[in-house]
Amino acid sequence: MTQLTSTFEQFTGTIEAFDNEYAQDITASSFFEFPLKPVLEAEQRLTQMPNTAYLSMEYGLSPSIYHQFASKKPLSNDNQFSCHEVFSNQWDVDHKNEICVNRMLDIPIYSGGLGVLAGDSVKSAADLNLPLVAVGVLWNKGYFKQKFWYKRGQLPEELKWDPASYPGLIPLKHRIVLGTKEGDLIVRLWKYYIYSEDFNYALPLILLDTDIEENKEEFRRLTDQLYRSDDVRWKIFQRLILGVGAVKALQSLQYNIERYHLNEGHAAFAIVEKYLQEECPEDIDAFKQQFVYTCHTPVIAGHDRFAIHDLQQFITQDYIDAACRFGRDPEAEDLINLTYLSLNATKRFNAVAQKHGEVMRLQFPDFSAKVNAVTNGIHLYTWLSEHTESLFDQYQNVFGNWRKDSELLKNVHQLKNNAQFRADLFAAHQKNKRELINVTKPWGLDENVFTIAWARRITGYKRPALLFHDVERILELADKYGKIQILFAGKAHPNDDIGGAHIEEILSYIDALNHKHDKVKVLILENYDTYFGKLLTSAVDVWLNNPLPPFEASGTSGMKAIANGVLQLTTLDGWVVEAQDDDIGWVFGYEHTGTELGDERQLRLDEDADALYKTLAKVLELYYKTNDNGVINIDSLWLDKMINAISCAGFFNTQRMMMEYKKKIWK
Ligand SMILES: *Cc1c(COP(=O)(O)O)cnc(C)c1O
Repeated sequence: MTQLTSTFEQFTGTIEAFDNEYAQDITASSFFEFPLKPVLEAEQRLTQMPNTAYLSMEYGLSPSIYHQFASKKPLSNDNQFSCHEVFSNQWDVDHKNEICVNRMLDIPIYSGGLGVLAGDSVKSAADLNLPLVAVGVLWNKGYFKQKFWYKRGQLPEELKWDPASYPGLIPLKHRIVLGTKEGDLIVRLWKYYIYSEDFNYALPLILLDTDIEENKEEFRRLTDQLYRSDDVRWKIFQRLILGVGAVKALQSLQYNIERYHLNEGHAAFAIVEKYLQEECPEDIDAFKQQFVYTCHTPVIAGHDRFAIHDLQQFITQDYIDAACRFGRDPEAEDLINLTYLSLNATKRFNAVAQKHGEVMRLQFPDFSAKVNAVTNGIHLYTWLSEHTESLFDQYQNVFGNWRKDSELLKNVHQLKNNAQFRADLFAAHQKNKRELINVTKPWGLDENVFTIAWARRITGYKRPALLFHDVERILELADKYGKIQILFAGKAHPNDDIGGAHIEEILSYIDALNHKHDKVKVLILENYDTYFGKLLTSAVDVWLNNPLPPFEASGTSGMKAIANGVLQLTTLDGWVVEAQDDDIGWVFGYEHTGTELGDERQLRLDEDADALYKTLAKVLELYYKTNDNGVINIDSLWLDKMINAISCAGFFNTQRMMMEYKKKIWK
């Protein structure tokens, strides 16, 4: 106990303005109403035993949907997101209504799948009691706030939030200094704890922030916006902050780090920093042992490359020399390629699905023998709806302690012939659907109408508007089989013109369906985030995923859906390739084979839209045989597929994924 108390003092002593701001929320036993003990134990563990440092540019932690800290102080308005407009083919409804949700804003330091995966990974690391510390960046203005301009597409707005009063986020007194050609860049550290599902274990996320008075104005802005990329200076500094900053931050906290896990080339400057600190070690093999690297990018163009003369403007020559040691682009001598830097300087690296492993081997033939693949997952307890969780608890004799062991979801097969379970499963699904119907109430969605969603980051290869390629065909399908409800959501990166054009395109398709909402209702929701992610993935009947193969490294939102028994309508790419024989929905469209990657811009829209409509006909036919205006046929194949989907979620989760990392990549 005395040891714990002294750790507590040491710990509180590092928090800025503790007495004024945090004394009420951090007491001798509680941390923002969670138990304090795991936090103190984490601090001891991090200084005493070897740990893994996990580095990512973004984290989607979604406290609004899982493990929300509570503060004695009222939640500031900026941290409480409220209203979202909807564009639908019912204009009159749109004009009069918005979706207003009274909830805590999720810490806005992520843009999409990569960040959500990082968040889910560290949550599972906590569940598995792994010795790990995560490092990221405190984005003071988040990613961006999306406004739709009717028929004009997306208008990015600055997002406001208040880190200083965000429950559970604490500013430390620590400062670290990064030397640059523009002078010393000072970085302040923040901490946020990730608790295990049972609250018995915690691990810290350290966030790096340059928005402090000691810095000149241009430096203060560097940690404003995630993936701000209007010029090369931003990109270089952001990578410097994450990579070099992470190493120095962990050292200033005196954490014992045996291994750095780099996500994307974004974090590659960590290697450079260590190389210089170790004074250009001769035993490169031993040096490399400290690093592992996960590549999430399927396309060559997605890898970060910087001209050496650009780097020279901002970064001191010793860093550039060290970067050249590992990171020269094999095709262009005057470029540093952060992917090559990572491949050359890490002992082990991996792709994020088996198919992505193949793609990596094609892209990097020199490294092909060394490419591992660890298929992504999702953190079940974040993404399962309340109704799905209670269904699993209700059948505890079959699912056992599924909260401790995700693999137990595979036992759902034992219930395949259990009529009561089949009825309960569909009833749980209908409850999930009603949650969505409630949130979108003014638009009058119907729980007995077939509902499909496409929601994720909007970008070219994901083909967001594929479903609308031929609006007439959707209307024909609705005439023939029954009504259709379609939900859309997603942000396009503000500099991604193609993505932005897709949003305009979708808005105009919705427009074209304006007088048809008695047959086909379409809603596009503003500001897709983890809150809407959970709502949509758990509630719709079918999750649509139509990237152009082989350009989806993994994809994860479909995994959130299957865990809730939501079926997949998908092209054969990413994680789906591994589930194609499991009968969790329908696969359609172009299949990638052979040794050529193909062209990301050749989208095959005509062929694949045709395949999509043909498959959708089968989906609709089965749906309306299963749910005939509220009369449920529990013997339907639809329920078999739902059961298969849940079983698959026993594999596609971050608990299994982190155990694989531990066994295959970290060892
Ligand atoms: C899960 C999730 C994603 C990932 O989408 P995929 O394209 O399926 O990988 C993106 N954005 C949000 C908000 C998510 O929750």
